Amino acid sequence: MKSAKLINGKIQIINTEKPVLDIKGAIIKVLGSGLCGSDLVKIKHATPETENKIVLGHEVVGIIEEINVNSSFKKGDIVALGHHYPCFDCEYCKNGSYSMCQTFKKSNIYPAGFSEYIRVNENHLKYTVYKMNDELKNDEKAFLEPLSCCLRAIRRAGFDYNQDNSKFNSLVIGLGSIGLLMLKGLKAFNVQAFGFDISDKRTKLALEHGFNFDENKKYDTVFLTAGSSKAIDTALKYVINGGKIIVFSSVEDDLKGFLNNEIYYRELSVIASYSPSPEDIKLSSELLNKKIVKVHNLSTHYKLDNLAQAVDDSLNNKIFKAYIEV
Ligand SMILES: [Zn+2]
Ligand SMILES: [Zn+2]
Repeated sequence: MKSAKLINGKIQIINTEKPVLDIKGAIIKVLGSGLCGSDLVKIKHATPETENKIVLGHEVVGIIEEINVNSSFKKGDIVALGHHYPCFDCEYCKNGSYSMCQTFKKSNIYPAGFSEYIRVNENHLKYTVYKMNDELKNDEKAFLEPLSCCLRAIRRAGFDYNQDNSKFNSLVIGLGSIGLLMLKGLKAFNVQAFGFDISDKRTKLALEHGFNFDENKKYDTVFLTAGSSKAIDTALKYVINGGKIIVFSSVEDDLKGFLNNEIYYRELSVIASYSPSPEDIKLSSELLNKKIVKVHNLSTHYKLDNLAQAVDDSLNNKIFKAYIEV
């Protein structure tokens, strides 16, 4: 089968063995995978030592082809999935820091989302795999994992889906696909959501989705989805005293940090959110399947053989979000 691999710093589509079901789990025939910002970061920062370990693609949608555990899934089900699950038992898990759990970090799909087939284990089936509404297009189903990452950040900001959050306002800085998804997630939580980006094109797209920016406002919570340290100044400018800044992305230049005294005297909370918990994936499946969060027409489609082109176009900001048809 075909599978994407980083070899000598270049994306190659290699021919490799189809995974076999020699553990408890399922074989999934991949229909497609979204290209994540974290895939781009991994590709950009790969070294000859690390590139062999890189799993390319994890925002998978596919058909269950083979399954050997008793579960609600059966052969032929169209599913989307997340790639990590926690142990629920370690100190990190007990503390709610699921993404710091060793089991979480080690768990993954095999061999990679940009492959014709993947193998998942029984814990994936239990915690990260969801049947998706037939009415959704495959690229929409593939938003299960990225939306769940956003929902995790929204929850870590202190918002509860079952509560009335309408008196709160949030600003998302950086309106790429994840920023727009964050805005849509906040809207689903009934938070007043505003978005800022230095790019007119992205600002305009957010506006088309109903999200604007009010520069005269201060915001209770600011989400950093820009991947640029310059966004920190913008966050400090627009967050209220006593407010929260949610760090959601890595930055290229990590030297410029938050100012100790500004955080102290303004009593700001800086909270990070990295990857989703099973609970977030579950909520994500509900919001997508019930079309509470709509993600149609956001993705540009590429064939697996053209993955390198999709990566280039994403890195050069030519497209908003790439979906790789397998
Ligand atoms: Zn992702
Ligand atoms: Zn754990």
